[in-house]
This record gives sequence, structure tokens and C-alpha cells, in this order.
Amino acid sequence: MSGQQHIDTRCVQAGYTPGNGEPRQIPIVQSTTFKYGTGDAMGALFDLEAAGYFYTRLQNPTNDYVAAKIAALEGGTAGMLTSSGQAASFFALFNLCEAGDHIVSSASIYGGTFNLIAVTMKRMGIEATFVDPDCTEEELNAAFQDNTRAVFGETIANPALTVLDIEKFAKAAHAHGVPFVIDNTFPTPVFCRPIEWGADIVTHSTTKYMDGHGVAVGGAIVDAGNFDWMAHADKYPGFTTPDESYHGVVYAERFGKEGAFITKCTTQLMRDLGSIQSPQHAFYLNLGLESLHVRMPKHFENGLAVAEFLSQHEKVSRVSFPHLPGDKYHELAQKYLPKGGSGVVSFVLKDGREAAQRFMEQLKLVAIETHVADARSCCLHPASTTHRQLTAEQLEAAGVPEGLVRMSLGLEAAEDLVADIAQALA
Ligand SMILES: *Cc1c(COP(=O)(O)O)cnc(C)c1O
Repeated sequence: MSGQQHIDTRCVQAGYTPGNGEPRQIPIVQSTTFKYGTGDAMGALFDLEAAGYFYTRLQNPTNDYVAAKIAALEGGTAGMLTSSGQAASFFALFNLCEAGDHIVSSASIYGGTFNLIAVTMKRMGIEATFVDPDCTEEELNAAFQDNTRAVFGETIANPALTVLDIEKFAKAAHAHGVPFVIDNTFPTPVFCRPIEWGADIVTHSTTKYMDGHGVAVGGAIVDAGNFDWMAHADKYPGFTTPDESYHGVVYAERFGKEGAFITKCTTQLMRDLGSIQSPQHAFYLNLGLESLHVRMPKHFENGLAVAEFLSQHEKVSRVSFPHLPGDKYHELAQKYLPKGGSGVVSFVLKDGREAAQRFMEQLKLVAIETHVADARSCCLHPASTTHRQLTAEQLEAAGVPEGLVRMSLGLEAAEDLVADIAQALA
């Protein structure tokens, strides 16, 4: 049903349909637990023989309404919320990999995700090969090993603003019989639905545009329902052989392609690692989602206006914004993001570190924050914050020169933002 509706309608109404006399807005089910009349009725839930709620560490109705909306937005078959975007990335990958397995990942990803894969998951015995997102198909295929169990990338990478060739990554993943997991935080499903280009699992930091008001940290995972676990049974025994911790359920058999991934992720990882989003946060997130389709074009318009202004400015040596003609990723942006990308722009001031810092201190509307994708514009100087430990040479090598500023344009008037930036540059 929702598959035929426009994205605008899904943002407003998907996921929750009240009956007669029920609340029009989604109820916040502020309860840790749920009542049953008999032990057997509850026992059936523990054996996954019946669906229902028993404890909010695993599932809560408020979260499920919002997860169903995000799944409808992405065009997936099932979804779940997590306490943060980091938890979403970890759960999505750890649901596929265990010690001794291997991940192929784009090297151009969010710093927190890079650390998760390269350091923390490595400590858990999961190795990774990072590839240049602009590599050839041959180079990408060469990164795979017999023990590769997942491919990972970001639609528009934070903060590098590289646009991923989604079809290239999906094709390589499927040629090797593994699912492609993609972080779609920056464009949101309003501007890109990676499942339509072959992605299998989509993750989000809902902290960013989906919330959009700087209110609630959160994450989400959506399954396309396309990956055939049974066809790759030798690689994914966790899906295709009995789970003794649930009385021998075989996820791929009981829940099919449409439900196995999210069910296993909930019953095993939420149960054991407990990173549920609070129902109160899910409610805030839903308020954000109700206007996502209205806000995203405005963020993008403001980003484009600022990128165009900066690209003409004599004190600026370089501007990154995928939709700017001449940007390295312009062609991929036309293909995958025809209506827009995000409101994030990065640019380099010719006079380096001090000029960048002085510029930021002069801004009146744009605040200095470790955040992006808020209704209020904000900016960050990576060389003195997130990348503070690096020397000038290391900064250049990491693609983060000393004069680089990352700016996230909010929902203010473009003219006011450009005027603020112009006076601070002056
Ligand atoms: C912020 C961010 C994350 C991490 O999300 P949190 O909600 O902060 O845990 C992951 N991916 C991308 C692209 C992000 O921007």
C-alpha cells in the first residue's frame, strides 16, 4: 500500500493507523513491561511462536510505529530503531559478522563508523578492508575474501561529501554473495532510496535530518527484504541453522527474506546488548519525520546558495558540494540524487587555520557546534576539533586541510545566511 504513496504522504502518515476512538498522534507507551493472563501466553513470545510485547529492552509499540514509517520511507520490508546511529551501524554489521569474518568498506565514511569498524570490531576479531569509493570494479572485487560477510558505504559521506556509486557497490557485494549495507543519513529517503539501486540494508543516524531539531540521539535499521539467506546458507549459519537461545528457531525459515534480518537483530542483539531507543525519543523522531519532506529541499537550497556564494569568493580556495557544477561528484549526484543531497558544505579558506578560526568567531547566525543537519545552521573546524591530533601534513593527507570549515545550513533564509558568511569573511 505505502509502496504506491508519495514520499510526502509516507512522511506524514505511514507506520500508524489508529482505529475508532484511538489517539490521532502516536501514543508514547511509557512502560517497561507488558501484562499477560497466563504464563503460557508469555512463553509463546519467548519461543517466537507469537508476536507481541513483553519488555521494552526488545520492543515497544511507539518505536515500532516509527520504525515502520522509516521502513516505508526507504521502501523496505522491516525496520527497527536503535539508541544511536552508532548502535545502528554496529547492529547492522554484527548481525552479519562474527569473529573470523571480514568486511569490505568504503574508506570515505563517518569518523565514528570508521573507528567502529577499524578499531572496535577488529578487537572482536572482525577484519576489514577499506577501499577508495572511486575505485574501479576490478579494485573493488579484489578487496573481497572467502570470509567477507558484508559490504559497507555511505550515500553521501560525512564529512568528505563523496557520493557513493551505489550500483557499483551493490553489484560487487551480490557477485560475492553478501549483502550491501549503506548509511543513508545525509540525503535521507527524501532524496535517495538506496534499496532502489540494489542496497540490502539501510542504516540511519536519526539524530541528524530525521529528527532535524537537535532534540534526540537515535538510529534506525531497515531491511530491503531481498537478500536470500538460504541461497548463501554456508555463509550465514546464524540465519539458516537453529538458534538454541530461542528453542531452535531458524530465522530465514520462520521469518523469510522479508523478516529474518530485523527479527534476528532484535531478538539476539537488542536482547543481549540492549541499545533500544526510548519511546519518548521515538515520539520526537516521529515529529521530525512528519516534516522531513518539507525540510530537506530547504536545507538543500540553502546549502546550494551558500556553496555558490563561496565558490565565487576570493578568500576561498575550494568548495565541496556535490551538486555544484564542477564538483568531483557532480555526475554521481545527478544520477543518485537528482532532486538534492544535503545542506552540508565544506570549504577551505586560503589563509589556513587562523583565518578559519577567526571567520567562525565572527559568525552571528551560524554557531560553532559538533553537529550537522539541524534546523539552526552550525559549523565546525575539523583541524582544531575532530582532527586535532593530526599534524599539518597528516591533515593534508586526510583531505582535511587546516583551513577547512564544515558548515551545515539550517532552515533560515538563504539571504540571511549568505549575508552572515559574507560579513564574517570580510
Ligand atoms: C552522526 C552520524 C553517525 C553516528 O550517529 P549518532 O546518532 O551520532 O550515533 C553515523 N553516520 C553518519 C553519516 C553520521 O552523520
